[in-house]
Amino acid sequence: MLVTGGMGFIGSNFVLYWLDRHPEDRIINLDALTYAGNPDNVASVCHLPNYRFIRGDISDAACVQRIFREERIDTVVHFAAESHVDRSIADPQLFVRTNVLGTQCLLEEARRHCVTKFVHISTDEVYGTLGQEGRFTESTPLAPNSPYSASKAGSDLLARAYYETFNLPVVITRCSNNYGPYQFPEKLLPTVITRALQNMPIPIYGNGLNVRDWLYVEDHCSAIERVIRSGTPGQVYNVGGGNERTNLQIVQNVLAELGKPTSLIQFVPDRPGHDLRYAIDAGKLRRKLGWQPRYTLERGLKLSVAWYLEHGSWWRKLLKAPSPDDPAAAPDTA
Ligand code: NAD
Repeated sequence: MLVTGGMGFIGSNFVLYWLDRHPEDRIINLDALTYAGNPDNVASVCHLPNYRFIRGDISDAACVQRIFREERIDTVVHFAAESHVDRSIADPQLFVRTNVLGTQCLLEEARRHCVTKFVHISTDEVYGTLGQEGRFTESTPLAPNSPYSASKAGSDLLARAYYETFNLPVVITRCSNNYGPYQFPEKLLPTVITRALQNMPIPIYGNGLNVRDWLYVEDHCSAIERVIRSGTPGQVYNVGGGNERTNLQIVQNVLAELGKPTSLIQFVPDRPGHDLRYAIDAGKLRRKLGWQPRYTLERGLKLSVAWYLEHGSWWRKLLKAPSPDDPAAAPDTA
């Protein structure tokens, strides 16, 4: 199995999840180690004989070709991406290169080497924004609003085209906001936790009333497992936790869990093109593949807060690392 972006937040959770449950499988982890890639995330498996890390860029065709030539890749699980919306506003071209061209490069080699499944990990953001009512289904038209979501939508369409044109067995998943261990502290949950622990102000965009659907990362991994096993090629599956909350509610919940005052909250000017509400209808994944999330938001938040409390050395190291650029005025809630 080739996992791309396996040093990032969701990819590393997936590598750990998969090797724990499928110790007979071999994983090649291809990751460019951008600012978001962290080898510490997979330190517990890096000694295993059936795990191999390759530092490389998914948009480097020669590198991707070499991997497919050297390794017998059966399944691709494609997480690697530039994933931060504010960074996409600061540098859209990087997002097109990695998310669009990088995905095409992988699809092309996968096609040439006849892989049996290519799981393309996408996002609910490709659907754009909702008003107060309704949920995204797999047939909601794509209407991305940020350079990030537009680049992901572009990669989804290429993945779809490789199925339609070349019969590559592609399955696309579109998930909602993930949270849990190993999330880089530019995203909402780890930012709130790590700043609150340092009694630092917690910036929130606008009035904090943007709504997101929250998914515990282990539930996302189990959804991908179902899709690898039984997902139908050419299909899209939405993945969501069924936990719609405003950003403000999430921050208040975390502060309460940590016993910190809400006076730490600081509202900052809104992000341009900030989507108001995302909500996922994950009914297809439940009905067709029998998937259910295991974690309520309350339990997932408790576990996440406990994890960041126990792993201070993991995130303190990242806070110290110099950032290549720092476009974020407030943490990303996508
Ligand atoms: P992340 O930013 O934490 O990790 C991305 C990983 O990809 C990093 O390890 C990075 O080094 C690697 N990478 C970046 N550019 C690369 C390149 N050119 N070649 C090889 N590796 C490269 O992202 P994440 O939050 O783990 O998201 C993983 C996937 O899930 C992405 O495709 C993202 O669009 C999607 N997604 C994430 C969320 C979320 O809430 N985090 C929600 C929906 C969808």
